[in-house]
Amino acid sequence: MPGRRRGGRKRFGVSLPEDLADRLTILSEKLGVDRSRLVEEAVRAYLEDYNHLQLPHKCRGILIIRCPDWGEARRISEEHRRIISNIVHEHSGDYCYEALFIEGDSTQVSSLYSSILKAGCKARYIPLPPP
Ligand SMILES: [Zn+2]
Ligand SMILES: [Zn+2]
Repeated sequence: MPGRRRGGRKRFGVSLPEDLADRLTILSEKLGVDRSRLVEEAVRAYLEDYNHLQLPHKCRGILIIRCPDWGEARRISEEHRRIISNIVHEHSGDYCYEALFIEGDSTQVSSLYSSILKAGCKARYIPLPPP
């Protein structure tokens, strides 16, 4: 989307882990696009994915998690069991993964998602397309 300028731009300092910064630089060179532009696109995609959690609605999706402490993850899942219809535990490589099938109030989904992040898990929420 070239030339989309609404209210100018803001500059602020962001610190990234070294490996992430290096990967960003490599991708930027490969694509011939500057790093700010890549970060802009990544943030835009991230916000679009998660924005819907801010407007109350009935949310359906799949939360994929990988946690350092599965006991804590279980405790959080138990707390949110009203919105979790199923949990699938899987192994890939040396890691455990869980896919949580979610259906319920979006504020509850938000709460589950942030608790999972606070527990140090890696998490990706994939909303299901509307019917
Ligand atoms: Zn939703
Ligand atoms: Zn396992």
